[in-house]
Amino acid sequence: MITVEQHLSRIVGTVRRLPSIGLDLLDAQGCVLAQDVTSAVALPGFRNSAMDGYAVRAADLEAASEVTSVTLPVAGEIAAGNTRSLSLAPGQSMRIMTGAPMPEGADAVVPVERTDGGLSSVTILAPTSVGDYVREAGADVAAGDLVMRDGTRLEARQIALLAAVGTGGVTVTPKPRIVIISTGDELIEPGTLPGFGQVVDSNSVMLAAAVRALDCVSLRVRCVRDDPGTFLATVESHLAHVDAVITTGGVSMGAYDTVKEVLSQVASMRFDKVAMQPGMPQGFGVLGEDEIPVFTLPGNPVSALVSFEVFVAPALRLMAGRPQQETPLVTAVAAQDWVAPAGKVQYARVVLTRNGAGHASGHADGDALPPGYEVAIAGLQGSHALGGLAGANALAVIPVEVTRVRAGDQVSCHLLGPIIEAS
Ligand code: AMP
Ligand code: MG
Repeated sequence: MITVEQHLSRIVGTVRRLPSIGLDLLDAQGCVLAQDVTSAVALPGFRNSAMDGYAVRAADLEAASEVTSVTLPVAGEIAAGNTRSLSLAPGQSMRIMTGAPMPEGADAVVPVERTDGGLSSVTILAPTSVGDYVREAGADVAAGDLVMRDGTRLEARQIALLAAVGTGGVTVTPKPRIVIISTGDELIEPGTLPGFGQVVDSNSVMLAAAVRALDCVSLRVRCVRDDPGTFLATVESHLAHVDAVITTGGVSMGAYDTVKEVLSQVASMRFDKVAMQPGMPQGFGVLGEDEIPVFTLPGNPVSALVSFEVFVAPALRLMAGRPQQETPLVTAVAAQDWVAPAGKVQYARVVLTRNGAGHASGHADGDALPPGYEVAIAGLQGSHALGGLAGANALAVIPVEVTRVRAGDQVSCHLLGPIIEAS
């Protein structure tokens, strides 16, 4: 038996960030930048107005205040998109729109709301200082600035900045492409009603969805029989066009445990018992010339999902150039007692709820608890129990040495979905 940490460290020590590719900016959404980006231009690119109003020289408005008005002639109008350079003579104003270039000589903008809105002359009722409502060129980004570093994840905000500095394409770490292969003679395709002795292949759709939720690309193929030749041929047929393989089933101690039977012959694959519940039988290694990582997960659906969360997701993030973990564990208080196995880390399926301030503690003294998180067991805990799994939004991670969780104990939780707000 090996520990969870040993199995995970072998995996994260094997996988590599994928080789970079070039993509159009929008296609790179969700990818990690594999280059530094330096801006050739300043942002704002030119001095411009932050408001619809009047470009002025502040010195001409020294006398203006909320009670004393000053009237200036309006010498013209400047709209956003104006590319001619204009200049403002002393004692004059120009109507100006948000984002339009400031005329030479103007040093402030008076918002239209503080004027009478005049077209040929404008009456201003506002104190005005140099720089008011002016966006200076380069105040946000200077030409030559390093605006984004290698390793930055490209979301809407980052894509906007890259576009604003003139970038059309980027070099990124691509999203890992993962093939999911379920094995088992009992399996039938999703979308069909199972007959006696049949089980719907829910693992492949579950894992395909989990891969997508991680912003990676999933390829689901039809489930394969417990036949060594077919299984090996199916795995090998995908090695050329994927970055990792996930299989489920066939790794325990039973007869027809085909995955283990076939892949344990390969020197670069290793099968272990990992001290965890669920998810004890695990295999990992690399296959083919390109040393494609292969995760052989147990067949029980809860075991498969827990294994994905604990071992596969960190590996896929690293392959995508992202941090191994992106969501911190949440500490919560157990709302009930439950048992945990000796010598194994338990990943209990729980409902994690956030209590608002003043939530009653249930203690005799009637004290209110501070706002915090609480967990309760989510349905049946068997490794086959999809009902309990679907109802859970977290895994409570109970350490190896703990054999009993008591109501009131603090437990660390790995989030699977949004935290529920107590009503
Ligand atoms: P195995 O690991 O192949 O011994 O399978 C363990 C249990 O998980 C058995 O009850 C299988 O029927 C079930 N199982 C295996 N593969 C799948 C799958 N793809 N979808 C749903 N259940 C599965
Ligand atoms: Mg099986």
